[in-house]
Amino acid sequence: MAEKPHMNLAVIGHVDHGKSTFVGRLMFETGAVPAHLIEKYRAEAKEKGKESFAFAWVMDSLKEERERGVTIDISHKRFDTDKFYFTVVDCPGHRDFVKNMITGASQADAAVLVVAAPDGVMAQTKEHVFLSRTLGINQLIVAVNKMDAAEYSEDRYNEVKNEVSQLLGMVGFKADEVPFVPTSAFEGDNITESSSNTPWYTGPSLLDCLNDLKTPEKPDTLPLRIPVQDAYTISGIGTVPVGRVETGIMKKGQKVAFMPSGATGEVKSIEMHHEEVDQAVPGDNIGWNVRGIGKNDVRRGDVCGPAEKPPSVAEEFTGQIVVLQHPSAITVGYTPVFHCHTTQTACTLMSIDKKLDPKTGQVKEENPTFIKAGDAAIVTIRPTRPMCIEPVKEIPQLGRFAIRDMGMTIAAGMCMSVKDKQ
Ligand code: GDP
Repeated sequence: MAEKPHMNLAVIGHVDHGKSTFVGRLMFETGAVPAHLIEKYRAEAKEKGKESFAFAWVMDSLKEERERGVTIDISHKRFDTDKFYFTVVDCPGHRDFVKNMITGASQADAAVLVVAAPDGVMAQTKEHVFLSRTLGINQLIVAVNKMDAAEYSEDRYNEVKNEVSQLLGMVGFKADEVPFVPTSAFEGDNITESSSNTPWYTGPSLLDCLNDLKTPEKPDTLPLRIPVQDAYTISGIGTVPVGRVETGIMKKGQKVAFMPSGATGEVKSIEMHHEEVDQAVPGDNIGWNVRGIGKNDVRRGDVCGPAEKPPSVAEEFTGQIVVLQHPSAITVGYTPVFHCHTTQTACTLMSIDKKLDPKTGQVKEENPTFIKAGDAAIVTIRPTRPMCIEPVKEIPQLGRFAIRDMGMTIAAGMCMSVKDKQ
C-alpha cells in the first residue's frame, strides 16, 4: 500500500485553552493510542472502582506515563486520518519551538489554533497567530474549544469566531477561507464526529477539516538548495556532505557549487537510505559526492546549489523581525547568533530602519533608537563571516531565521533582500 502523504501539524493557542487535551482526544479517537494501552487503562479504571471508562482517565494515565519517562507511542504524537498521516510538532511556548520551526527541524505544513470559547482571543492567541504567519504556515483551522463550558451557545461561538476572524485578517490570513469548528476536546464534541450538543452547527468535524487540508507542494521548480548538515570523509569515495534537499532537484552529473566557499564540481553519486539514486527532490535526506571537492571546501552551514545559479552569500541583508523576548532593549551594534537553515552565524545589527505595528505591518516609526519585546521592525544586518541566506520571496525555505542569545530565542524573522558579497 502506498504511504499516505505526511503532514506536520502545529497546535497553537493560549496556555490552558486545551491544546494537549485536543491532541490527546484526536489521537484517542483516530486509534493512535494502542489498543493494549487502552485495555490496560480500562482494567485499571475498573480496579479503582471507576465504572465508566472516561477519556479523562486515558489522558491522566498517558500524562503519568510521560512523567515517569516511559516512552510510549503518544510521545511520537503521530496519528492517521483517511488521507494523511500527521506528526504533531511542538507547540509554540515549548522550548526552542521557534528555532526548530525555522531551521526546518519541524516545519509545520498546517496549524490548528485552539481558542477557548469562555475566554476568546488572549495574548498568546495573538502572538501565535502572528508567529505562524512569520514562520510561513499558510493553512489554519480554528477550534473554538471548551464549548461545554460555554453552554454550547451558538451566540458565544459566533462572538469568538468574529473576534478570531478579525485577528486573522489583521496578520494577512484570508479569514473567510479558514474553517472554524465548535469543539469540546474534553467531551469529544465535533472532533471526529458531529455532536448533538451543537445542533446549530452543520459544518465539518475537526477531523474532516484535517482531511481537507491541501498536500504541501514540493518546491521542486525553485533553484536547487541543499543546506549542508555535515560533511564526512569516506575512504574510497572522498568527501560526502549530507543534508536535506530544501528546494529544486539534484541530478547525477549536474555541476554544483558550495557557497560561501565557491567550490564547484560534478555530482558523482547521490545516496538515500543507503541506496544510490539518480536524483533527489525536496524533502529527501541525502549524502552526495562531488568530483574535486575536498574536506576543506565544505562544512556545516554551507549551501549547495547549481553552479550556474549558486546560493546567495550576504554581505548585508534586510530582515523583518518580531522580537519575542529580550530583557532590555535592542540597539544598533547588537550581535547575537542567527540560526538560518543549518548555519549559526553571529550577525550585527547595523541599523533599525523602521518600527512596525506587529498586528498590521504598518510603519509606526522611522529609524527608532531601540526595539524591545513585542515590537516588529525592518532592520539591516551584517553577518560577521560569510553566510548564505535568500530573500523569503524567492526561496522561502532559506529566507527565515531565528535570533538567539542568552539561551533563548530573542526574535524570529524573514529576509527581505540580500546585498550580495562580491
Ligand atoms: P493547553 O495548555 O492548551 O495544552 O491546555 P490543556 O489541554 O492542558 O487544558 C487545560 C485545562 O482545560 C485542563 O484542565 C483541561 O482538562 C481543560 N480542558 C481542555 N479542553 C477542554 C474542553 O473542551 N472543555 C473543558 N470544560 N475543559 C477543557
